[in-house]
Order: sequence, then structure tokens, then C-alpha cells
Amino acid sequence: MQLPVPVIRSDAHLDHDGLIEFLNGAPVPCFESPARALAIENALRDAPGYEFVEPDDHGLEPVLALHDPGLNETLANAWQDALATGMTDGSRPLLPDSFLTGAYAAGHPTSRPGRSHRLWSYAFDTCTPLVGGTYRAARVAVDAALTAVDRVRAGAPLAYALCRPPGHHAGRAMYGGYCFFNNAAISAQALIDHGAQRVAILDIDYHHGNGSQQLFYDRGDVLYLSLHADPERAYPYYTGYQTERGFDAGEGLNRNFPLPERTDGTRYLGVLGDALRLVAEFAPDGPLVVSAGFDTFHLDPIADLALQTDDYAEIGSAISTLGLPVVAVQEGGYAVDALGDNVRALLDGIRGA
Ligand SMILES: [Zn+2]
Repeated sequence: MQLPVPVIRSDAHLDHDGLIEFLNGAPVPCFESPARALAIENALRDAPGYEFVEPDDHGLEPVLALHDPGLNETLANAWQDALATGMTDGSRPLLPDSFLTGAYAAGHPTSRPGRSHRLWSYAFDTCTPLVGGTYRAARVAVDAALTAVDRVRAGAPLAYALCRPPGHHAGRAMYGGYCFFNNAAISAQALIDHGAQRVAILDIDYHHGNGSQQLFYDRGDVLYLSLHADPERAYPYYTGYQTERGFDAGEGLNRNFPLPERTDGTRYLGVLGDALRLVAEFAPDGPLVVSAGFDTFHLDPIADLALQTDDYAEIGSAISTLGLPVVAVQEGGYAVDALGDNVRALLDGIRGA
């Protein structure tokens, strides 16, 4: 008899709400919404073989193991600072209106953000709104991932962190793509800090995990593999090309698999097989971290691949052939009505249910 799979969840994300983003210049409700996590919970609550677990507080140290202290401090204070300076009256989320780009700073080595706009110096896009509950939600999402790590280290073959906000776009000193802290990367780092020498992250979100790539690009102890929509047409646009293969000790340990539009399950599973062979060659001595995104689904409102619910079960089952324990960390997925079933299909596939 299999023990139930721990699903690490919290209500903290409910206050990361009232979010808007811009679509073709018009403000729209943010696709990254509380309804997503609620839909996943509903699907897993009704399914046999899962137990809900609250995250344990792991403190700030694991966050600062990968992220710039300035990013953390700025995110922690942004909302109160904005209220104090009148930048918001509290009724609207904070979205950047200017960026200190490399081109701006060129020739002006002393350029720096003014106090009221410090937040924007860490943002890399305009689709990642911040409200009063955002920082706590982001910290609790990290705790959820780390609690999943604890469960797997204690012997669970699979633990699932229902992280919201997601994380894989967040880099050392930047946030964006709905992400503030990199939950999956922090999980991998925690496994290394607990003694693993080789950890692999498999990122199956529709988008390239530019933050995860950045954090481990020159590292020999973490293999990062990502299957995602080709950056020639898809967010985050600047990274995710096949030619990005790591640097220095990380040479060869960053592998991108850009996918064409309407990639279906059969084609996807073929590419996934190539990625899984690389994981096996790397021979991890720690659990596999899966950045589990579901915006590859054929009905996703912001994406263009063509996976069906049954394909996630196949993906899970392919992952299970590695024979590694799995820390699954929730990333994207915006077709809310199907999201719960898709998550369940993947997890059932991994655990062989
Ligand atoms: Zn995504």
C-alpha cells in the first residue's frame, strides 16, 4: 500500500489577489490568479492517494542562498513604501512604468533607481503585479517547496508543492513572469546544501525558466533542462535557445529544448525522452526537481502547444522511469477548468497510480 503523496498547500496565496496585467495595451485580470490553486486543490482533494500538508517556516536563509538581499528587502517593503509615498492608494497593484536597462545605464555608471522606484529596478516585465499580500505569498510558496524537499528527503517518493506565485522566471536579482522567488531553484539548492552532489531540474512549463537557467548557468552540481516554446515567438523572448549550454563548471549542464507551435503529446514525449536520457547520464544522487507547468495544454489562453490531459499522465510515467524521488513544484498553467485534472494526471503518472 502506497503512502499518500504530500500536497503542500497554504491559504497565504489568497491575498496575492486583485491582480491585473496588460494584454495588447488593455488592462485585464491577471491570468495568474488564486482560482488556479483552488482548482488544483479541488481536484486533488477528490482524488485518492493525496494528503494536504501546510508548509513549515524555513526562514529567509534558503531564499538568500540564491537571491540578492536587495531583491528580498525591496519586495518585502514595496507595498508599504508605495502606500507611504502615495504611489498607490491600495486599490491597484504595483506595476513598473520604467526600467533601468543596460542601454540606459551605458555611459552613466552612477545611474541608480530613486527610492520610490527601487522596485522597478528588480522587475524585468510589466506583467508581474505586486499587492499587499504578495510578499508573504511568495515566501510561503518557497516554504511549500522546501517542505516538499523535507518530505522527499524523509523518504517520500514524491511530494508536490502547490506554489503560488510560481517561481522559474525569478533570477538572482530580478522578478517577472508572475514569479518573485524561484521555488524550484531554491529546492535544488536546499538538496545540495543537505549533501547531494548532483541535482537535476526538469522544467516542463510552456515558458523557458530563464531564472533557473541564470542561477545555475556556471554550476557543475545542478543540471537544468527545459522543454518550452521557442523564444523566437514566446515569452520570455531573450533566452531559451538551444545554443545556451552552460558556462565554466556548468558547461553542458544547461540544455534547452525549444518547441514549435502546436507540438502534440507524441512529439513532446519524444523530446522529453531525450531530456530524460541526459538526466540519467548526469546520474543525480539527489531527488529530481520538476518545474511543473501546465500551460503546454491545448486550451491554455496564453500559449500555443497542444498537449491533452492524458499526455500529462504519460509525461509523469516517463519521469518515473528514472527511478528518482521527485519534488514537483507548481509553475504555470492558466486553463483553470482543466488545471486540476492535468496536475492530477501528472502526479498519478509519476507515482504509477
Ligand atoms: Zn509558463
